[in-house]
Amino acid sequence: MLQERVCVIGGGPAGLAAACEGARLGLKVDLLERNQIGTNIRCAEGFYDSLHLLGKPQAGLRFKVQEAVLKVQREYKVDCRKINLWMIDRSEWQRSLAEQAREAGARILENTRVTVDILRDLQREYDWIIDSSGVPSITSLLYGFRDYYRRYGAVTAQYVVEGDFSKLGERLKFVLFPHYAGYYWIFPKGRDATGRETANVGIGYFPSNGKGKRGDILWEELNNVLEREKIEGKIIRRLGGLAPVKLREQLRYGNILLVGDAAGCASPLHGGGIDTAYVTGQLAARWIASGQAYDFSHEVWRLLRRKLKVEERLCRLWERLDADTLDHFAGLIARDYRSIGIRWFATHFWMLLSNLGTGIRFRSGLLRGEW
Ligand SMILES: Cc1cc2nc3c(=O)[nH]c(=O)nc-3n(C[C@H](O)[C@H](O)[C@H](O)COP(=O)(O)OP(=O)(O)OC[C@H]3O[C@@H](n4cnc5c(N)ncnc54)[C@H](O)[C@@H]3O)c2cc1C
Repeated sequence: MLQERVCVIGGGPAGLAAACEGARLGLKVDLLERNQIGTNIRCAEGFYDSLHLLGKPQAGLRFKVQEAVLKVQREYKVDCRKINLWMIDRSEWQRSLAEQAREAGARILENTRVTVDILRDLQREYDWIIDSSGVPSITSLLYGFRDYYRRYGAVTAQYVVEGDFSKLGERLKFVLFPHYAGYYWIFPKGRDATGRETANVGIGYFPSNGKGKRGDILWEELNNVLEREKIEGKIIRRLGGLAPVKLREQLRYGNILLVGDAAGCASPLHGGGIDTAYVTGQLAARWIASGQAYDFSHEVWRLLRRKLKVEERLCRLWERLDADTLDHFAGLIARDYRSIGIRWFATHFWMLLSNLGTGIRFRSGLLRGEW
């Protein structure tokens, strides 16, 4: 049988997973990356294995997150020991994945940018194209849906700060805004091999409330966060962009398959998408190798539907919560019931009851990947 020729566009988590898995399954894989693998990454580097399909990262591991700080008005401590959550160095992790892909037989071409014209040629040259070029995807430029990512994208801004984060230790901090307006994060990375201590400090606004929160305003708010959190140190990198938080219905265009951010895979609840990028990249390679018996879009939806449904329900709930009520919900997540009096409980009884199922699913998703 002739080997299927597959071209993977983009060497992020989705593309690298597709290349590793495709080569391992005997596909003839070429991966084209416009930069060098592991450079220009836009991420806070919290690796959350939401579906429990990946486990502990094999390279670039900084630490297993044991505890998170969740804040709205008060600060709550969330026990993360049973949650598959790690801090990683994504650059190191991605370089190691590229090495694995090469060893399995994939060809990786760096500094190779795919344009719309090149994409047309690739469609003729290869049996399949896996588009893992992130946002906006190169396929969206060819098929005219670039605007989709903006419409359904969380807008983000982030600094990488070099400084002393020992007070936070190995805890991740999330500060939530009411009415599903987003959150800001402080993710310490610990020390690297040269002894340099850094943290990723960022802010993200979510679609319906993100309007008007762009550009300068976002950066201004991030500067306020640095002040409020008394973060002193040297800003060594400034990055940002869209986190696409709505999975597209159509994920196949001719012989092109969309995966990862290009597919709109990031979590609608928190914007994280490393893991879903990885599993959808893997799935695309498996789908090609297995003879494409089913519809690809359907396969991706089958994998992610339950998790997305729970997360979207939580987003709708979050939308309705003011700061005070959100604060109590944060307490519930942290299992810290001190501030929840009988009166609050009675006032919110119906809301709690009608969201009980979602709460239970969220918990089993968080702890066991069973959504
Ligand atoms: C500020 C911020 C913080 C985030 N923090 C987290 C987090 O802590 N945890 C988490 O899970 N997720 C996080 N995310 C989301 C996460 O980064 C993405 O979901 C994830 O990177 C998606 O992987 P991907 O492989 O689909 O795309 P990408 O990682 O974007 O990779 C796409 C690759 O394609 C290449 N490329 C693009 N266009 C072309 C082209 N035309 N030709 C060739 N190559 C091309 C790019 O150079 C890039 O290497 C964050 C996102 C943002 C914006």
